Amino acid sequence: MTAVPARLPIPAPPDPIDTKALFASRGLRCTPQRQHIYEALRVVRSHPTAEELHNLVQRGNPGTSLATVYNTLESLCRVGLVRKLAMPAGCTRYDADTREHLHVVTSDGRLLDAPEDIGRLILANLPAELFQVLERRLGTAVTHVKLQLFADARE
Ligand SMILES: [Zn+2]
Repeated sequence: MTAVPARLPIPAPPDPIDTKALFASRGLRCTPQRQHIYEALRVVRSHPTAEELHNLVQRGNPGTSLATVYNTLESLCRVGLVRKLAMPAGCTRYDADTREHLHVVTSDGRLLDAPEDIGRLILANLPAELFQVLERRLGTAVTHVKLQLFADARE
């Protein structure tokens, strides 16, 4: 078993990016509202719902409607810049970090990113031999694993 540090530094905010060029590379028109919504989602680490993101975006851009936020999120998901996360309670949260990473759902409804190194270790230590047994029993091939962790909230 590989040693895992108990405490990790708080992740730094994401590096600034050229949103206009990024949108263009995905064939998405870059409007100021889309840019603002995407940037707000990139910076926040809480995996907000559309309503929560709308509240955030309105602080800097009060004219943005909830419908615009929804439509923008749909467009961003369609071109692969944002990921939609279906929550057990039925709501949908959004993540601008589209890299493979594990999420931890807390009992108070938060969605946290597992630290990248720990997430990688968890996935690397899944029992491959059990997947082979499963594949034999079901007569199918497991193509990928989607793992979500649940945790009690701490004060
Ligand atoms: Zn995430």
